[in-house]
Amino acid sequence: MERLPLIAGNWKMYKTVAEALDLAQGLAKECQGLGDREVLICPPFTALKPVSEVVSNTSIQLGAQNCYYEDQGAFTGEISPLMLKDVGCRYVILGHSERRHIFGETDELINKKVAAVIRHGLRPILCVGERLEERESGETFQVVKTQIDGGLAGLEGKDLKDLVIAYEPVWAIGTGKTATPDQAQEVHAFIRNHLGELFGDTLAKGLRILYGGSVKPDNIDSLMAQDDIDGVLVGGASLKLESFVRIVKYQ
Ligand code: PGA
Repeated sequence: MERLPLIAGNWKMYKTVAEALDLAQGLAKECQGLGDREVLICPPFTALKPVSEVVSNTSIQLGAQNCYYEDQGAFTGEISPLMLKDVGCRYVILGHSERRHIFGETDELINKKVAAVIRHGLRPILCVGERLEERESGETFQVVKTQIDGGLAGLEGKDLKDLVIAYEPVWAIGTGKTATPDQAQEVHAFIRNHLGELFGDTLAKGLRILYGGSVKPDNIDSLMAQDDIDGVLVGGASLKLESFVRIVKYQ
């Protein structure tokens, strides 16, 4: 089944509004006419609305890096899926390893967020991935399986047609150490197979699984050549116009 490649930039806690607009304008110019792939940028909350105005008439999609699961209420400091939709977001990154490990997010909380995002017609990008010690002790598949089972608990196949999974080994994020294309492919194939066990092969074959962790201009082509790698989630290299454009224009 054809899966439209998705190249996503996670800007994390970088960029003022002026800097975000500058980068978004550059990308809008450089990414015209790329019909065979989808480009997504996920700026910080403060830049979503202004960036949305820049990309609204382009093929670039807008996403957020996190959200809460209620629509509104007394939840100081939180942002709801409804609010993200209101400013033009289509995607929401959930369960990023920085959310899990710095802010203590559990699979149970992430699961509520995934369900809320789907309820509002937004597309979740559910991030999973093992830490170095888990890889070294042979637990990679078990960790990834637990995160997927927990993150998608209670959801049915019919809710998940727009789900995106991002496999991001924690030891590769921001470290300059990329998983080799073979290492990534092995886990991607495991994830697709497991999604098939949970929701059926037809759905699993249509879902996009992204790789994330030190994706750079010099490794993008070999990663994208793998059968089960349907795109990438890029942190550091998405902050500079030149490097992200090269990644977007992988061959
Ligand atoms: P990186 O981050 O590309 O800087 O390793 C990836 C991510 O955290 O999504």
